[in-house]
Parts: sequence; C-alpha cells; structure tokens
Amino acid sequence: MQDPGCLFCKIVAGDIPAEIVFKNEVVTAFRDIQPQAPTHVLVVPNVHVASFAQVEDPGLMQAVWCGVQQVTQHLGLTDYRLVVNTGAEAGQTVFHWHVHILAGRALAWPPG
Ligand code: AMP
Ligand code: ZN
Repeated sequence: MQDPGCLFCKIVAGDIPAEIVFKNEVVTAFRDIQPQAPTHVLVVPNVHVASFAQVEDPGLMQAVWCGVQQVTQHLGLTDYRLVVNTGAEAGQTVFHWHVHILAGRALAWPPG
C-alpha cells in the first residue's frame, strides 16, 4: 500500500527521481540527497510503513533487513553504519521507514 503524500512512496513508484542503487520486490535503495558520508544510501520498504516502530509484519521486518544486507553486499561495503531514526526527537524527518547505510569515512561514536 502506498501513501500518495509520501516522498519515499513517490520515489519507490518512480514519480520523483532518485539515484536508485538496488531494488527488489521488497525494498528500494537510493542515494541520500544530502549525503553525510561518501556512501550514504537509504533502504526503504516498497510498501508504506511510517516508521520502524510501526512495522507489524515480521515477514516484512525480516525481508527489509535482508534487503539491507543485500545492498551492502551489492555496494561492496565491509565497514559501515546502519541508522534507523525513529520519531521526530530521534531525528526522523521522512515518515516512511528507512535504514541509512553510511560508509566511506571514519564515523565518530557516540552519534550526536
Ligand atoms: P531521516 O532524517 O532519518 O528521516 O532521514 C531522511 C533522509 O532523507 C535525510 O537524510 C534526507 O537527506 C533524505 N532525503 C530527503 N529527501 C530526499 C530525496 N528526495 N531523495 C533522497 N534522499 C532524500
Ligand atoms: Zn511512503
């Protein structure tokens, strides 16, 4: 199911351009428009789910995380950080669940 007002649903549907790096039946992965690292890719489910906290289907949960691993392998990444901002206070700005993949530079810890 898609949300017609959702930016990432529009990217999944091809209605808004994005640099797509990987796609399968469950996820679409594309480059972040404001990259925070040399590699910054977002992996999103092809169906609309507002956030990680709202995933109800364990099959979708599993398939998205498998998709994330496939994207890292597809990009040849060995060292990377996965980030899932959940809720506005945690920094979520787009309310369609997405996993950030950040790589290509040393990443500080703890995150801000
Ligand atoms: P978050 O703050 O965790 O919700 O992440 C949303 C991410 O979406 C941010 O890193 C934005 O830079 C990114 N973003 C927003 N609009 C677009 C777009 N049109 N194409 C690609 N990435 C986008
Ligand atoms: Zn959506």
